[in-house]
Amino acid sequence: MKLSLSNGIFSKLGIKENFAAIKQLGFENIEFNMKSIRKERDTDVYRVQKTLQDSGLNCLTLHSASFHVKDPIEVHRAVYYGKISLECAHALNAPLMTVHSNVAKKLPPNARERCLDELFNKEIKPFAKSLGIKLALENLSCTSTGFGKNVELLEEVLGVIDEGNMGITFDFCHALETKQVDNLLDKYGERVCNVHMADKAHKPFTEPKPELIAFLTRLHEYCYDGPITLELAHNTSMEEIGKCKMLFDRLLEEN
Ligand SMILES: [Zn+2]
Repeated sequence: MKLSLSNGIFSKLGIKENFAAIKQLGFENIEFNMKSIRKERDTDVYRVQKTLQDSGLNCLTLHSASFHVKDPIEVHRAVYYGKISLECAHALNAPLMTVHSNVAKKLPPNARERCLDELFNKEIKPFAKSLGIKLALENLSCTSTGFGKNVELLEEVLGVIDEGNMGITFDFCHALETKQVDNLLDKYGERVCNVHMADKAHKPFTEPKPELIAFLTRLHEYCYDGPITLELAHNTSMEEIGKCKMLFDRLLEEN
């Protein structure tokens, strides 16, 4: 497993300072979160590409900008968010992009399928395929405006958009909050290709809590060797991030 840091934590900094903070903490790998750039300035993608090259960091995964469609008329906007994110993943050589279902949990059932079909099957998936980027659907939390916090809801989404090659981004924080860790692992353990790692409320783990160790053991049993992406709340201090990194450096060496 490879330790990585989501740069979303430094999204309020300029992109150079963002990467510099990550380097200062000693990370080699990142998940690039689209909230760290202004989506409406598409050409920012080139600037980020150059800055990443200069930094020497590896971008293992990219977190798509997500737009949770509340009405079918908004599908265009979600298409744009998805496509500019894919352009950025391509520019940063990230082989994998984390996506949300992009439908709001309030969207009526009959509209959900239509929106998912238009968005993913007609637009996002063909574009991802043309760029050679794999997609990984993330499990969400109860507080999210999006759809897909448990197996039943994720199955509904996958039933429309999956042709057998959709990966799963397993968000451990969300799974703890929704109490779905085991259910999600039982169903999707073999399909996990990215892990978002944090304690509840996106707090950093700084000690080897039993639920964390049990989770890592199960990932190991599934022969998971992908990223462990620390996805932490904005108010996490540099010191706490450092402690969290030390813990995972040790745990991932043991696993
Ligand atoms: Zn996440």
